[in-house]
Amino acid sequence: MTAPHNPMMSRRGFCCCCLTFAATGGWLTPREAFAEARGLVSLIKDSAAASPITTYKLRNNISALEGSGGNVAVLTGSNGKVLIDGGIAVSRTQLTKALADVGADPVTHLVNTHWHFDHADGNEWLHSIGAKIIAQNNTKKHLSSIQRVEDWDYNFLPSPAGAIPSEVFENERTLKLNGQTIELKHYAPAHTDSDISVTFSEANVLHTGDTFWNGIYPFIDYSTGGSIDGTIKATEANLARVADDTIIIPGHGKPVSNKTELKDSRDMLVAIRDKVANLKKQGKSRDETVAAKPTAAFDPKWGQFVIDGDYFTRLVYEGV
Ligand SMILES: [Zn+2]
Repeated sequence: MTAPHNPMMSRRGFCCCCLTFAATGGWLTPREAFAEARGLVSLIKDSAAASPITTYKLRNNISALEGSGGNVAVLTGSNGKVLIDGGIAVSRTQLTKALADVGADPVTHLVNTHWHFDHADGNEWLHSIGAKIIAQNNTKKHLSSIQRVEDWDYNFLPSPAGAIPSEVFENERTLKLNGQTIELKHYAPAHTDSDISVTFSEANVLHTGDTFWNGIYPFIDYSTGGSIDGTIKATEANLARVADDTIIIPGHGKPVSNKTELKDSRDMLVAIRDKVANLKKQGKSRDETVAAKPTAAFDPKWGQFVIDGDYFTRLVYEGV
């Protein structure tokens, strides 16, 4: 944002009085309304609204559902369906059908891997049909207050009461449901400061949330504690806890993954981090670093989703 129109501009560049207005239910400023109408978040929501859900049956009554923002995992059984992330609310119709197709049990539990809208926007409707929402403390904190994500140019308003997690934890929590031991573990700040991993122990299935984007450049949310180094550390933590036969469900990208693909992602992150850090150390500005195309060798494979090579370079530059 440029040309501040008010002395109350905050460090992150948004106008505190407009936000207060927005928080009280008022309309947004024309500039914010424009960003909302045209921004990345709206595009992602529009795309989810039109997208079908594809179901991948994994093992031990666990499936992965693709097509509503982040990849959703669902465990079925007599304790009711346990969902890992709830996708975007506009997908309710498609997700309802996909959930009915994997089993008749009602949805009883929803775990959020972190606070982002493409994982937690479905919270309210899933809670309204009976899901108890479980998350890390920072997910509850971010969903309960206004969040500005600078790199999306978007202000998220506080979520309605039904969407706020009712059970929170700081470091870890273990659930025993449907014959599975489900271990929830907080990462050190990585993609955000609210990320958790979800391990289905007996099934040997790991949902990494957005600490792993399979085969595509990841988004990194510096506005709520994410960083490139944190993302790399979380990737190493994921590698340390999987075996060759572990099924890995990434936050985004092809939803059934494995250790080899996770290693490829680690190698890409480390290589690009080092290239961008070198350019920054030489005194290059962000624009000069982008112009040097440090991601060029990786773009044909990794730059085919919402984050292209230039965008990813800017995200890495911010953290080295
Ligand atoms: Zn995310």
